[in-house]
Amino acid sequence: MIPQSDPKAGYLAHQREIDEAVKQTLDSGWYILGKQVAAFEQEFAAFVGVGHCVGVANGTDALVLAMRACGIGAGDAVITVSHTAVATVAAIELAGAEPMLVDIDPVTFTICPQAVEVAIKSYRGKAKLKAIIAVHLYGHPAEMAAIQELARRYELKVVEDCAQAHGAKLAERRIGSIGDIAAFSFYPTKNLGALGDGGAVVTNDAGLAERLRLLREYGWRERYVSEIAGMNSRLDELQAALLRVKLQYLDEENARRRQIAAVYDEELKPSGLALPKCVGEVEHVYHQYVVRSRERDVLKARLREQGIGTLIHYPVPVHLQPAYRHCAHSALPETERAAREVLSLPMFPQLRDEQALQVCDAILHG
Ligand SMILES: *Cc1c(COP(=O)(O)O)cnc(C)c1O
Repeated sequence: MIPQSDPKAGYLAHQREIDEAVKQTLDSGWYILGKQVAAFEQEFAAFVGVGHCVGVANGTDALVLAMRACGIGAGDAVITVSHTAVATVAAIELAGAEPMLVDIDPVTFTICPQAVEVAIKSYRGKAKLKAIIAVHLYGHPAEMAAIQELARRYELKVVEDCAQAHGAKLAERRIGSIGDIAAFSFYPTKNLGALGDGGAVVTNDAGLAERLRLLREYGWRERYVSEIAGMNSRLDELQAALLRVKLQYLDEENARRRQIAAVYDEELKPSGLALPKCVGEVEHVYHQYVVRSRERDVLKARLREQGIGTLIHYPVPVHLQPAYRHCAHSALPETERAAREVLSLPMFPQLRDEQALQVCDAILHG
């Protein structure tokens, strides 16, 4: 059996250090917002190359808090994609705003700047357009230069959804350091995964960082005094402690993901599948290795019979899900085509070369 991802292997790879960090934290007697979270926030900000990091409870909250810190809420609209984790769109509504979903680029699967511009120009709704959320899907950076240019021209904020792209680079800069503010998830299967829930918001804007710190804990600067209306969304000490261990290995593990991708790239050339492409000056981190096929469902079933796990990210575009049918403002043909054709092959740093070759063999000859 070859699983599609394996968060337990990610624990076992660093078990001794993680166990030690967890034990130390348990012994410390301090479990919420203490030294581990503060140290992780510093180390992760340095890793991304930003001034500030605020640890929060999960990636969805990170997006909600990023928007709320930017003053986005009721009466506002936010542009993003439908081809993403539902969390991206759910977060916009949780912040009180209206999602406006646009189509993707069919090669990179990330937000299409031309579609964003069309949406901005043709928008006639009552809500005020405030921001664009660019999702760095599958580990490939979105086309940020064009998005930043549109944001400047139309006075919009840019929020990066970095949940699938920890460590990825665009023109030598880490994603998360490019827009106004960025959200990360540390869900166990992500490139930097906790052993439970976790998330973070990063920014270079000290004012936004200060608002984030208030918003994540009831608007408190001083305990028990709410300066603004906040929520409870805290990263806990245990998760922060083990994230500090795993962060040390993130670049190495992302490099291993690229090696596995190179094996797939080479071996699957004759397969007839559309393989992932890097567009622009990007360093892809292959959160997922996603192929496209018109016979996707047949291929998926065939691989399952041979003990190879695959997943579909995502089978139903957000705008076609019952809760979000009101969010599509135009046809989204590339999004709907992607949902029919994409398949995510096994991808995690502990996947061995011979296992990757076995996957390729099953695709080519199985
Ligand atoms: C995982 C993910 C999220 C949400 O993160 P959670 O920690 O599960 O709340 C948001 N956006 C994208 C693109 C994701 O992949």
